[in-house]
Amino acid sequence: MRLRHIQGAEETIATSPFVIQEPEQHRGHFHELFGNDHPIRIEVGMGKGQFLMELATRHPEINFIGIERYSSVLLRAIQKREQLELSNIYFMCVDAKGLSEIFAPEEIERIYLNFSDPWPKDRHAKRRLTSPEFMKVYDQILRKDGTVEFKTDNQDLFTYSLESIPEAGWKIDAYTRDLHHSEMAEGNVMTEYEVKFSSMGNPICKLIASR
Ligand code: SAM
Repeated sequence: MRLRHIQGAEETIATSPFVIQEPEQHRGHFHELFGNDHPIRIEVGMGKGQFLMELATRHPEINFIGIERYSSVLLRAIQKREQLELSNIYFMCVDAKGLSEIFAPEEIERIYLNFSDPWPKDRHAKRRLTSPEFMKVYDQILRKDGTVEFKTDNQDLFTYSLESIPEAGWKIDAYTRDLHHSEMAEGNVMTEYEVKFSSMGNPICKLIASR
């Protein structure tokens, strides 16, 4: 994703009612923010948030939190969020590597990873959001029956993930290398990157992992 510094982004984020400030303070009681006990799902690396806002619209019975580390990107999600009447979605401007300090064990029901940065160089493998290092973080916050759902059009990252996830002690419950023509397509919500890359003819890969 091309990043530009956008003036005022930090300030908007720091005062937005849609962004959770000092998220560590809500550890273990995020449900109080939503005012209900509905399950909480997060998207790590949400980008401009199209996917999560569509899911939140379709599923008022589920709570959603979008995680994005760059303020300039999160700003775009906030601008879109302001036009929607939703009470089941918040955002956070944090790096996912610290998620276990933000969420308590078993606080999260599902984690979505969509079109995560591929980090193609071997020496950067630990930065991939499906690396064993990140799977360990997810293990610390996800419910026992929780799942990680990962989509990408990057064949190399997908092949890597089919190995790295079991290496971290997880099971691959289902996967496809052509989501839009598979049984796994039912109820699929497209992300911004998914719209862009599938329109270029790239097949979309998806896997679901659990412990
Ligand atoms: N999920 C969106 C989609 O599918 O359209 C955006 C995909 S974009 C390629 C990946 C996003 O993940 C970027 O906005 C990037 O800043 C964010 N990201 C990457 N690593 C992250 C991390 N460790 N913590 C939080 N966000 C991260």
